[in-house]
Amino acid sequence: MGSFVDFKCKFCGYEETDIGVGHGKRSYPRLALFRCDKCKSVGSTWVGEDQRPICSMCYDEEIILLSENDSQLACPKCSKRAFIVAKKGGWE
Ligand SMILES: [Zn+2]
Ligand SMILES: [Zn+2]
Repeated sequence: MGSFVDFKCKFCGYEETDIGVGHGKRSYPRLALFRCDKCKSVGSTWVGEDQRPICSMCYDEEIILLSENDSQLACPKCSKRAFIVAKKGGWE
């Protein structure tokens, strides 16, 4: 079952809420957390078995996939350390 996370940076105030991550009954495709340095955003995008993930905002291919198990990552806006917070509830 998939879940949701919030991304919050307390330094610059950038935040994204209710980012869907994980996968449904099958392992693929799955929603993976990513950071895009081109449009400086964090979000989730569909990753298939042999499909190149792209930024869901600007469609750039040079995105950095992140693990939703990471609790910290560099903020795409200010490069300081920001936090990923897992939320209750899920999706299928
Ligand atoms: Zn920031
Ligand atoms: Zn982008």
